[in-house]
Amino acid sequence: MIRERAFPVDPWCIRETRLDLDVLAQSESVFALSNGHVGLRGNLDEGEPHGLPGTYLNSFYELRPLPYAEAGYGFPESGQTIVNVTNGKLIRLLVDDEPLDVRYGELLEHERQLDLRDGLLKRQLHWRSPAGRDVRVRTTRLVSFTQRSVAAIHYEVEAVDDVVRITLQSELVANEALPPQSRDPRVAAVLESPLQAEERLLKESGGLLMHQTKVSGLRVAAAMDHQVEGPDRTTIATEGYEDWLRTTVGCVLKPGEKLTVIKYFAYGWSSRRSLPALRDQVDAALDAALLTGWDGLLREQREYLDEFWETSDVHVDGDPEVQQAVRFGLFHVLQAGIRAERRPIAAKGLTGPGYDGHSFWDTETFVLPVLTYTRPAAVADALYWRYSTLDSARDRARTLNHAGAAFPWRTINGQESSAYWPAGTASFHIAADIADAVRRYVQATGDEQFEREVGLELLVETARLWISLGHHDRHGVFHIDGVTGPDEYTAVKNDNVYTNLMAQRNLLVAADAAIRHQTYAEQLGVTDQETATWRDAAMDMNVPFDDELSVHQQVEGYTRLQEWDFKNTPQEKYPLLLHFPYFDLYRRQAIKQADLVLAMHWRGDAFDADQKLRNFLYYERRTVRDSSLSACTQAVIAAEVGFLELAHDYLREAALMDLHDLAENTRDGVHIASLAGAWIALVAGFGGFRDHEPIPDFAPRLPGRITRLEFSVLWRGLRLQVRITAEEVTYNLVGADDDASLEIRHHGEKVVVTGGQPVTCALPEIPTPPVAPRQPPGRAPLRRNYSPDF
Ligand code: BGC
Repeated sequence: MIRERAFPVDPWCIRETRLDLDVLAQSESVFALSNGHVGLRGNLDEGEPHGLPGTYLNSFYELRPLPYAEAGYGFPESGQTIVNVTNGKLIRLLVDDEPLDVRYGELLEHERQLDLRDGLLKRQLHWRSPAGRDVRVRTTRLVSFTQRSVAAIHYEVEAVDDVVRITLQSELVANEALPPQSRDPRVAAVLESPLQAEERLLKESGGLLMHQTKVSGLRVAAAMDHQVEGPDRTTIATEGYEDWLRTTVGCVLKPGEKLTVIKYFAYGWSSRRSLPALRDQVDAALDAALLTGWDGLLREQREYLDEFWETSDVHVDGDPEVQQAVRFGLFHVLQAGIRAERRPIAAKGLTGPGYDGHSFWDTETFVLPVLTYTRPAAVADALYWRYSTLDSARDRARTLNHAGAAFPWRTINGQESSAYWPAGTASFHIAADIADAVRRYVQATGDEQFEREVGLELLVETARLWISLGHHDRHGVFHIDGVTGPDEYTAVKNDNVYTNLMAQRNLLVAADAAIRHQTYAEQLGVTDQETATWRDAAMDMNVPFDDELSVHQQVEGYTRLQEWDFKNTPQEKYPLLLHFPYFDLYRRQAIKQADLVLAMHWRGDAFDADQKLRNFLYYERRTVRDSSLSACTQAVIAAEVGFLELAHDYLREAALMDLHDLAENTRDGVHIASLAGAWIALVAGFGGFRDHEPIPDFAPRLPGRITRLEFSVLWRGLRLQVRITAEEVTYNLVGADDDASLEIRHHGEKVVVTGGQPVTCALPEIPTPPVAPRQPPGRAPLRRNYSPDF
């Protein structure tokens, strides 16, 4: 586990001042670079030692059979696993014939920095070889945001005291050996040698390798080229075989002399394009990168990020760790989604193989809300990807004998990849999560064309699924039975409140959209009778409530289930899923992650203030947070009901999930939803931002230590900046014309903000509720204590 403060607190940089080989895999995830299309784990340049080598291309997967001891009807037969593609980041160095390997010789200095403003991973080291030769190495790595197929490394080696003979081997390597798999289901299946060689091209300064997967038939091309600057008589040559290509640069360096090699590498993949077409595509990408040059790539990267931070930065005074962590989180969210371009955003982004590289509801429920208000174009792309998988989702619904579209719980290519029904297909709520992401995006942007061409069909097909899955009982009440909500410790139950309320909104939003786009809706076969059934079901939706306890029931009958014996559950038995049979979890009141509490966030309009407080207190005592998706939601509702310090603790847990390796599995990739959750906890929690209606709604409040919070929300092309202090909040339309105006809500009151005229409002007192919240023993938020030196 990464020890606390492995990375010193710095507002714009993640710095590792000492190489700790015990946590190499974790730091590889933290230092992963990606643009949503290409992803490089932060492996050391020389490749070894490594925790987990990783180079990924969005949606490049291999198929594998899903074996069942006892198969059942409708079980998916094949699953997808992301492939570790050709590694282009390898640069080995030999100093007088001794390979630079940090495990040998003496590592006199080693520092890595992820610069969040430049978008670069920098490394500097001072190494003394076992024979006593000193070199300094400085490398800078980037995955380009502007040229999405391209990555580059600037590698510089300097002789210190002696004349040294330098051999630098820059490689492309396919089918790297991967470490063996653990039994934790969150870890990926390891594929051995998934790539078959197709073509190899060489020239003096680089070359290209092409491979194809055996079963999925996807083709990948990787190419590299180099620019070299060294002393006279520096040599360069390239050679290779099926699975590797090596450009060797050789020279002799006198003390103080340097060799600089800039490696440009590019990737392309396709399921359809011919070998020559793909080869040319990658060659062209590489040529463009060479033409741009190293300085050009650096400049483009910086400009891209300047623009991102200008609209998306969150400023936090009073908690420097959170300040750093929320920027780190936003950076990874950006990396995961920004150039995904109609491809999925995976739970780990492209930072590791965890969860086999699959996308879940994490995208629509945690990542897209952030991108909607910071980078809306990426949301349109992500939803377009869902749209492109509609046929698979319709087929899946048909296989299950249902109407509409049943989107997969976990997938890369749009087909269900979960072999476990209760926490897989049964989590039908993903349909409503997608629909709500459509609603949010359209509401925030007013993008009618998207709604007409993409959103409408998603809304219609998901609404149809709910009608088909649910039923009216003899009293006319609408139920959705036998489903799993967000809490995976409560499965295949009736009337999950979260699912029902999200489905209710899905049905109503679909009916409204069908009126707005009547002709298009008719083309989808929507009739007035059909939309009437949607509205009826929404109106009659069952929302189970326990009258005696005056709390909502997460699912029908939940509050009468046996209590979990938390007192006698030692901490080492968490996560519970690794120590208890699901059978036991399902029959008791132990909650993996916010479920009813999540409903109170995204469907907060369906609860009154008293219910929110009572529900929060009830479910808080039973929630163990065995999922990293929980803390941010608990932060949001804790803040809303008045537990501001607790909200702050939950914010810290969500934000520090990977920098402190809180779930002890950062090695498999960072937790993109939790990192997005840091933004959610700040903006929806302390900013009190809600988007239930077409007016942005704020109810700001700050915990004691946070003295100022500032963020922006993009709304219909305007940038609304919100600056909160302990006493007041200022709403400002940044860069807007004088005649621009936006109606918002501030603690329930309508306020109109006009361009050039910021509005300042006082913050009301937020009373702390009389009853203190309690968590199961040992399950309080993980970062309660702060060091006063920060
Ligand atoms: C959570 C799911 C989540 C998945 C991927 C699981 O542990 O329970 O809600 O979608 O992880 O992040």
